[in-house]
Amino acid sequence: MAKTTEKKRAVKFKAGRASNGTGPDEVLEGYERIDKFEPQGLERISAHYADILEAIGEDPKREGLKRTPERMAKSLQYLTHGYDLDPAAILRKALFKEDYSQMVLVKDIEVYSLCEHHLLPFFGKAHVAYIPNGCITGLSKIPRVVDAFARRLQVQERLTNEIRDCIHDTLKPLGVAVVIEAAHLCMQMRGIQKQNSVTTTSAFTGIFLDDHRTREEFIKLIASKLH
Ligand SMILES: [Zn+2]
Repeated sequence: MAKTTEKKRAVKFKAGRASNGTGPDEVLEGYERIDKFEPQGLERISAHYADILEAIGEDPKREGLKRTPERMAKSLQYLTHGYDLDPAAILRKALFKEDYSQMVLVKDIEVYSLCEHHLLPFFGKAHVAYIPNGCITGLSKIPRVVDAFARRLQVQERLTNEIRDCIHDTLKPLGVAVVIEAAHLCMQMRGIQKQNSVTTTSAFTGIFLDDHRTREEFIKLIASKLH
C-alpha cells in the first residue's frame, strides 16, 4: 500500500484501439493519454476494497491478494477517468469551418463503460453521425467524446443521449444520430443471465428526426459491412 501514497505517478498509456479511419497523427493525439492516479483517492479506495475482500470471507493479506486493493483502486480510477474530461472542450479544440453538408459517420467505435447499478462493465459499439452546418470536427474527436462519457458510471440510455447532446450543442449541426449496441455483464453474469442479449439504444436530433430517408440512410450505413 506504500506505493499509493508516493508522489503523483504519471504513467504513459497508449491504447491500441481501432483507428476509425483517422490519420496516424490523429490516432496518437486521440488515444494517447497520461494516467494520473490521484494518491489520496487511491489510498481511500484501496482501504475500502481491503474491507470488501474481508467482508466476502477472503484474507486480504494472503499472497495473491496483497496488492489487489491497490490494483482495484487504480483500475477504478482509470475506468472512471471520464469525470476529469470535458467532452465539449475536446470537440471545440478541433472545430473547422467547412462547406461539407453530407453525413459524417464514425461507426464501430469501441465502448467500455460501467453500469451505475452494479459497477459491472457494459461494452460494445457506438455509431455516431452528424450532418455539418458549416462546421466540422476532427474525426478522432468523436471516439474521444464517446470515451469521455463512457468512462464514468453510466446507464446506456443516458450515455447515448449525452453523446448526442454534446455533439448537437457544440457543432450545431443539421442533425445528430447515435446508436449504441452493448452487452451488459450485470445481465449476463448475474440476475436474469441472458447470455447473449445485446441492448440497442438510439438518439437523434434535427434532420435525423424530421427526415426518415436520412435516418434510413444512417441505419443502412451502420448495418453494412463495408468499412
Ligand atoms: Zn447493471
